[in-house]
Amino acid sequence: MNSKRQVKIGALTIGGNAPVRVESMLKVSLDKRGECLAQCERLMKSGCEMARAALPDAKFAPDLKALVESTELVIMADIHFDPALAILAMESGCRAIRINPGNMPITRLNDVITCAKSLGVVIRIGANGGSISQAQLDEAQGDRAKALFIAVREQAELLLSQGFNDVILSAKSSSVPECVKANELISASYPEFPMHIGLTEAGPGDGGIVKGSACISALLMRGIGDTLRVSLTDEPEREVRVGYEILKALELRTRGVNLISCPTCGRRRADVRRLVAVVEPMLEGLPDGVSVAVMGCEVNGPKEARHAQFGIAGTPKGAVLFREGERVGEYSFSELEGVLPEFLKV
Ligand code: SF4
Repeated sequence: MNSKRQVKIGALTIGGNAPVRVESMLKVSLDKRGECLAQCERLMKSGCEMARAALPDAKFAPDLKALVESTELVIMADIHFDPALAILAMESGCRAIRINPGNMPITRLNDVITCAKSLGVVIRIGANGGSISQAQLDEAQGDRAKALFIAVREQAELLLSQGFNDVILSAKSSSVPECVKANELISASYPEFPMHIGLTEAGPGDGGIVKGSACISALLMRGIGDTLRVSLTDEPEREVRVGYEILKALELRTRGVNLISCPTCGRRRADVRRLVAVVEPMLEGLPDGVSVAVMGCEVNGPKEARHAQFGIAGTPKGAVLFREGERVGEYSFSELEGVLPEFLKV
């Protein structure tokens, strides 16, 4: 978003003037080839632009190669501990790898850099709060955010000193303040390089979504972040959907319909949850950015939703429909299901 440099992974651009990208991670082992491919297809359908795939062992390299050759989704190999795995991933066709500076010593990176240079591979230096080394923690005098920054800096300096600039920088932890601080430190020192942002191990359900959103939003509002992942203990497609919702809320990117619905109050004339349940399935296929407002009453609803192209406001009988602020008509609940598909056409 705010980085000056742009990296390219195949046709995918990250940083510079490119939109903030939405990523996820495959949640099945690479040797389950059919499941991996099916997950990639679902991810692409949900708008995912890149997925990381863990390569924990050399025995999975043929599976990685097969996946890269059979999906159109950009795959970034996720590498820990062993530089030989990073080289294997690149030789298997991955045009992006993530290495963890907390568990891959810089003394063993020269061959990785040489290989990445010759194959045109982008390297994400991705530090993680769970794997920062004791030496990094000691240098930071126990400040975990600073230790994350130091971990990224060590490898960034090595890569840049060797003339390797196709890097994405990232630091994640499971603490929102720690994660925000670490990313601020990185951004201040390397403002020109693209950054991947996210909170790690955010958890499941509402708590996970709120924590991830709080961290990612805080960073994006500071102009930090070129690509993101919302880590959830959930299906990867949900991570992507929440990622787009964050970008939509911050007015940075639009995907899908902007569904507005009121929280209801004592004036409500209709069951808004029931109305939303009827309307929501009908929105798939509408162009990105179209706004649909579902409001609890016809008194304040239309005014509160006046910016929406389509307005549906509850009445005791059913709902009044508005298009671009103009009243279309009033319909009972039983009539609505038949009327709405035609009404919601652009
Ligand atoms: S639209 Fe009507 S019911 Fe909904 S919050 Fe506003 S006043 Fe209350």
